Amino acid sequence: MTDLHTSTLTELAAGLRARRFSSVELVRACLDRIEASQGTLNAFISVTRDSALREAAAADAALAAGGGGPLTGVPIAHKDLFCTQGVRTSCGSRMLDNFVSPYDATVVARLKAAGAVMVGKTNMDEFAMGSSNETSYYGPVRNPWDTSLVPGGSSGGSAAAVAARLVPAATATDTGGSIRQPAALCGITGIKPTYGRVSRYGMVAFASSLDQGGVLATTAADAALVLREMAGFDVNDSTSVDVPVPDYVAALEQPLGGLKVGVLKEFFDKGLDPKNEERVRESLRVYERLGATLTEVSLPNLPLSVPVYYVVAPAECSSNLARFDGVRFGHRCENPRDLQDLYRRSRAEGFGAEVKRRIMTGTYVLSAGYYDAYYLKAQRVRQLINADFVRAFQSVDVLIGPTTPTPAFALGAKTADPVTMYLNDIYTIGANLAGLPAVSLPCGFVDGLPVGLQIVGPHFSEARVLQAAHAYQRATDWHARVPRGYA
Ligand code: GLN
Repeated sequence: MTDLHTSTLTELAAGLRARRFSSVELVRACLDRIEASQGTLNAFISVTRDSALREAAAADAALAAGGGGPLTGVPIAHKDLFCTQGVRTSCGSRMLDNFVSPYDATVVARLKAAGAVMVGKTNMDEFAMGSSNETSYYGPVRNPWDTSLVPGGSSGGSAAAVAARLVPAATATDTGGSIRQPAALCGITGIKPTYGRVSRYGMVAFASSLDQGGVLATTAADAALVLREMAGFDVNDSTSVDVPVPDYVAALEQPLGGLKVGVLKEFFDKGLDPKNEERVRESLRVYERLGATLTEVSLPNLPLSVPVYYVVAPAECSSNLARFDGVRFGHRCENPRDLQDLYRRSRAEGFGAEVKRRIMTGTYVLSAGYYDAYYLKAQRVRQLINADFVRAFQSVDVLIGPTTPTPAFALGAKTADPVTMYLNDIYTIGANLAGLPAVSLPCGFVDGLPVGLQIVGPHFSEARVLQAAHAYQRATDWHARVPRGYA
């Protein structure tokens, strides 16, 4: 049993099917690791021990009867913004501390139908707003590589849980980098699919034109296995796209020979830590050895992605979060004097500082006098960025560069200056603005801390970006490194 936690999800699924161990044993081992590390990492908001063990026993019975789906009996954690029927969905906020959804998000329902066993809900930045997991109402998550450092955000709980091998995979969401940035800082693999590839139904909304659910795992092959079950059209989400889901797992082994890799000039700017750059350049050489050809490409409007994002995302958030009014669900203040007082105090008490900052910025850029100057202008620049990507993909298959400018930073280091914090996502936001699929995978270490490599592809090219990540992982072993104390 001792090596179950360092096995990949693919190995665990095969081991369960071959009945080398039971789901109950595996799930119990995960729950024990989660509980043992909670005081240090704070990766979970809720742990669902009883229901997990019940589901595991049912999975064992299904496997014994020769049945079950592709993930039967495999433990998985959900970021705490995917609605789970009967289990609290807090979104990392006091506003939803008491919220128990009456239904499952489509992602949750699909993974359940594939046989996965939910062991808990992971910690996150409040309403997914953050790059360090320090805005959570439930306290910060710590990076398993060094607990004085942040794990990244907003899916920091999911990333820390996978990196510390508490679970083999976890769901996450990415609005401006929240899957890829924590994957990079925690030394794991994460995929943000094409906008519309994975249903947003039952995913608490932050910025609806950018939010996309995806997976954090230790390998691209595991991410492919989970994504295959999560993805696909959903009548309940009007932005989900009715395009068939390829078999991402079957596509993994296709050779890379002739892959045209674009090296994005704008990603190698002065903000990139030189040691990070070295690791990324070495990885590009690995791709060359694997048969890829490299060409430099430039996306001239890409440097505008952070300012565009910090107009568009707050605008959408200010509208989405208007629903939290103390009336229908979520936090309600005590003894309101009248309706205005109920709104004001419920929202003032329920939301934290970063969420309030975004709501105010968003309300401002949407207000009558400023709409044209900020919101409309940002939407126009967003189109230019999109057009830059479309042009680039006429000559290359994928774009490769760093995921983040630096490795993980210290807790508290950037909390006083929101703009410095926002710049963590400088290399990830472009893919969200253009709705493109992108993967981050570990590509080495700087001073003992993991560094992420990012691969961005054209719309609906998840199979190709996963294949490119998988080929790299067959040639290197960075993804197999486990933080000290968790091996
Ligand atoms: N760090 C970015 C933000 O705070 C992105 C967050 C995300 O992708 N959810 O908005």
